[in-house]
Amino acid sequence: MTEQEAENTTNDPASAVLARARHFVDDLTLTEVVRWKQDHPGRLAVGYMPIYVPRPMLEGIGCLPVAMFGGGDQVDIIKGDSFYQSYICHIPRSTLELALNGSLDSLDGVLFPSICDVIRNLSGMWQMLFPEKYASYVDLPQNFDPELGGKFYVNDMARILRDLTARGAWQYDADKMRAAIKAENSRRAALQELDTLRVKEPFRVRASEAYLVARAGGLLEAAVHEKLVREFVAAARERAPRVYDNVRVLVRGSFCEQPPLGLIKTLEAAGCDIVDDDFQLGLRYIEGDIECGPSDDPMRAIAMAFLRRGQATASRYIADEEKGAALVKSVREVEAEGVIFAAASFCDPALLDQPMLETALDRAKIPHTSLKFAENTGQFQVIREQAGAFSDAVKLWGSAA
Ligand code: SF4
Repeated sequence: MTEQEAENTTNDPASAVLARARHFVDDLTLTEVVRWKQDHPGRLAVGYMPIYVPRPMLEGIGCLPVAMFGGGDQVDIIKGDSFYQSYICHIPRSTLELALNGSLDSLDGVLFPSICDVIRNLSGMWQMLFPEKYASYVDLPQNFDPELGGKFYVNDMARILRDLTARGAWQYDADKMRAAIKAENSRRAALQELDTLRVKEPFRVRASEAYLVARAGGLLEAAVHEKLVREFVAAARERAPRVYDNVRVLVRGSFCEQPPLGLIKTLEAAGCDIVDDDFQLGLRYIEGDIECGPSDDPMRAIAMAFLRRGQATASRYIADEEKGAALVKSVREVEAEGVIFAAASFCDPALLDQPMLETALDRAKIPHTSLKFAENTGQFQVIREQAGAFSDAVKLWGSAA
């Protein structure tokens, strides 16, 4: 525990909320999902791989969406490795390991969004390994015309709704779907409040804490998660932490396989205030509300939010805007002094995007550095030295050179 963490924990009424959040994050065998199913007999739990799936669509038919972020640094890979070549990322191996050892048995189905070839291949393996479970690839649109990509997405969601209803989910009901959208919007507003507080006073909400609080929502209904986030924000506002003279940085590239918590804490200990990141991007993917009035078609509203308000990320086609412009804009908005690219090793989307993003940062004269990790990385000394050198250089000279 760092000096700063120790101080925060001693005087911190938010500790209890963080402990609860940590429990959800560490719940790799999905005991909370089992409990939810006992409390809601007959309802389905539907897992999904990162980054984004339309969670309110699932809640609108009574399902519990469950984010699947692999095994982190908690799972020994015994069988999972035998399904993959050595030069790909780690998350599919640990996900398969968890599935094969029964940890994911409470899931009635899994959605595989179209973010990369690895996830596409995993969806095929899943169908072969678990033929009795529902599995569906979700081809998210890369055409942002409402008449093309929008209609395609609405039709694809309708297909998934039909499939899940056939397996026991509620029949589609527009009012229930609108209620689910409203709950998602409220959760999103709470997360925005958390992010705003972190940008304004990063010493009050550490990135590693915001990460736990956000990630806990991966297996909670939106309304339950909103309550937890708001509890934490209220408690964090009451803190009296010491203010450190850290460098304000953005972290990009960790949108799918997540870095170990120890890595995030290492960056903090190296003098970085992470004021913005793309960890847990799925819960923040839509910027602002999904706009859906009382007489609007909720499925079209979800599709339009994806088309119009989806965040720029490596798995989303950027048509008109210059590549990297969104990142430079984010740096300016949160008044960051530099960017740390932290991508999972062998993550094609993140690592193919990175040179273009670095070029955009160079043009804007924004310092940056990069590192790679695996979800089970256990040694952080080299990362600490690299991040420390970066933060010192930015602090002293305003650049990483
Ligand atoms: S870490 Fe990257 S390559 Fe691996 S599954 Fe996720 S997006 Fe795909």
